[in-house]
Amino acid sequence: LQLQINEKGTDKYVLIPVATIGCGKTTVALTLASLYGWGHVQNDDVSSKSGKFRTFSNRISQAFSEHDVVIVDRNNHQFRERQQLFEAMDLMADANGYDMHYIGLDFLPNGPAQKEWEVTLSRVMNRGDNHQTIRNMDRPAVEAIMKGFRGRYQPITVAKEPDSNFELVIDVNCARGSKDNVTAVVSALNDAYDMDLETKPEELNAAFSAALEHKAKIPVGTQPAQKRATWSFFCIRVDSKEMMQLLASNLQGNPFWQELQVSKGMSLKQEFHVTLAHKASEKTQFKALKTKYHKLLTGSKENGFVDLNVEEPVIVESICWNTRIMAAAVSLPGEHCSSNFHPHITVGMAKGVPPKEANAMMNNYDNRVEIKPVRLTGRLCAFR
Ligand code: GDP
Ligand code: MG
Repeated sequence: LQLQINEKGTDKYVLIPVATIGCGKTTVALTLASLYGWGHVQNDDVSSKSGKFRTFSNRISQAFSEHDVVIVDRNNHQFRERQQLFEAMDLMADANGYDMHYIGLDFLPNGPAQKEWEVTLSRVMNRGDNHQTIRNMDRPAVEAIMKGFRGRYQPITVAKEPDSNFELVIDVNCARGSKDNVTAVVSALNDAYDMDLETKPEELNAAFSAALEHKAKIPVGTQPAQKRATWSFFCIRVDSKEMMQLLASNLQGNPFWQELQVSKGMSLKQEFHVTLAHKASEKTQFKALKTKYHKLLTGSKENGFVDLNVEEPVIVESICWNTRIMAAAVSLPGEHCSSNFHPHITVGMAKGVPPKEANAMMNNYDNRVEIKPVRLTGRLCAFR
């Protein structure tokens, strides 16, 4: 079975374990994350009790802004939990123009049978206090928690919702051992998506040993409320699907554009915006915007982009690039202007090139294509 991969570079793969405690979710995830640089978000690292899922799903969104493959490390042992994840990630995909591929990791393909119970119990007892929440407990207390999960477990049932959302389910039977399970994930992804993931035995062994040695982040006392970052810039964001369509239709056969889709050494942006003012360089305008939108800014809780509820037109006029970076030149006929001499939307760059290099490139580009001006509706946002 060869699944369809789009050519726009918007594919996102999410690995969703379905498991109980001690199945090796974290060990498998750590190994894969270390081998391939994938994102790994651990529910057990979310220490807040209230808004726990919100925090978890914010961290997942954050991970997707940095990685194409993300492992969502929690048990997801009930339909309800899977449903909750699919819903949250569908929304995230819509907002960012991602094409999601939901991949189940079935740690209990035979259900929570006796053998699986013995393997997981003995692992969890050996793990001892090296866990965020299951610690300082005697054996009966640990067993009681584990039995709770075992009792509530609902096996993956792809014939119906919500599990019909899984595009692929990989057998990672916990009784088989986590190293073999890492290999099983890699070969299933290679088969299904042509991912070309390599595993050298010595690298796998090193990554797996490090995962077994891993020390959990133990929360100390009651944690202070998470410190929020300060605002770093204001921008107008455009819809990434519309922007991708515009680029694709104007850049057919363009070599830099083609490299952006296929080369591992290049990174195509997943999110498109025109920077208006940056804290570091356009201090006066930055402060003015901060003052103007003070109320909305102080009311917002999340990190990342915050929508300020103002629509602004963005007219895309040409596309410029050199050997390192590509950006679209725009004009802003609306209320807000950019303090950049050449307002632009960064499109993509060679890996390691800082996005701000687009400013210098726009001043002195090697190549430029004029396009029929396209008007997009953007939204004013602040970023922290
Ligand atoms: P999780 O609760 O599903 O995240 O399970 P963990 O990944 O934390 O694994 C539970 C414990 O078993 C940890 O102490 C791991 O180091 C250990 N462990 C995981 N996989 C294996 C394995 O294949 N062999 C052995 N011997 N220990 C493992
Ligand atoms: Mg774990």
